[in-house]
Amino acid sequence: DLFPRDRSTLCLKPRPPVVTVMGHVDHGKTTLLDWLRKTSVAEREAGGITQHIGAFSVQLSTGERLTFLDTPGHAAFSSMRARGASLTDIAVLVVAGDDGVMVQTRECVDLVRSAGVPLVVAINKCDKPGAEPVSLPALLHSLGSLLQPCVPYNEKERVEEELLQCGVQLERFGGDVQSVRISAVTGRGVPQLEEALLAEAELNAVMGDPSGPVEAVVIESHVDRGLGPVASVVVRHGTLECGAVLVAGRTWGKVRAMFDERRKPMREAPPSTPVLTVGWRDLPTSGDNCLQADSESAARSMVQHRASTPARLSGVRENR
Ligand code: GDP
Repeated sequence: DLFPRDRSTLCLKPRPPVVTVMGHVDHGKTTLLDWLRKTSVAEREAGGITQHIGAFSVQLSTGERLTFLDTPGHAAFSSMRARGASLTDIAVLVVAGDDGVMVQTRECVDLVRSAGVPLVVAINKCDKPGAEPVSLPALLHSLGSLLQPCVPYNEKERVEEELLQCGVQLERFGGDVQSVRISAVTGRGVPQLEEALLAEAELNAVMGDPSGPVEAVVIESHVDRGLGPVASVVVRHGTLECGAVLVAGRTWGKVRAMFDERRKPMREAPPSTPVLTVGWRDLPTSGDNCLQADSESAARSMVQHRASTPARLSGVRENR
């Protein structure tokens, strides 16, 4: 069978972090993703309509890049992990400043923590009056709370306090979790969020090996009317090029075309790049690990071998 390369043999270089946006419903995850997509330098240059291929790459004016998974929420994060894929390098926890920490916010914190994924908090909707009270009454209120500890925290600190209660210690309070106040509607604070993500990536040594056989993770797949079975993958190691033979779960394909999220043909996809691949025999499942085989015949016998081996032994989980 095919196995990922031994980590010690990799020649690691920094790569863009792969980011998942999580948080309670209606706290602004989709709005934030839309803003990020449309402010990417590449997006502005292309000016086209972005296709949803499960992930997109944001290019900052500095040339640096971030990869965002398109499906917000913890359902996608959990199902990917259940299939063994650890694709997310950093999670952004979106908390609406006017609503605070809610049920799903806590669930996200638990999930991210148990997965050992670093977290950056985005306190959203800061354009709303209730979310950013730096007013005189609020100031007096916070002074009051210093004198009388039993007085509730003022609005501004409320979210931070609630986060602390579920174990998230923000940098501003001596912890190690970065937080940024943003508005996903006006875009305020979003560049600071992007900077925070890049800093987090550096801190956590987010690396990949751009050489050698490709290792990738399938994010989604579907049958395209013109192209047949297609799969979006995010490359982990190696640089994917047309002609590569990939095995994922119990199917394989020889990549005959690659597109980015703007349906622009791609020649090569280095680590962290989301790419739509064409040429699959069948539909691979999201969360499947995807490895490069030497040849079509090697891929074919690999898939046959996997089909005849119990899922538990072949490392391929049943797709149910
Ligand atoms: P999701 O369920 O977390 O994906 O939340 P959405 O992105 O769908 O946002 C829910 C609602 O909040 C929508 O009506 C958005 O327009 C609104 N919203 C999201 N972000 C902001 C923000 O920064 N400020 C304001 N005022 N509204 C926002």
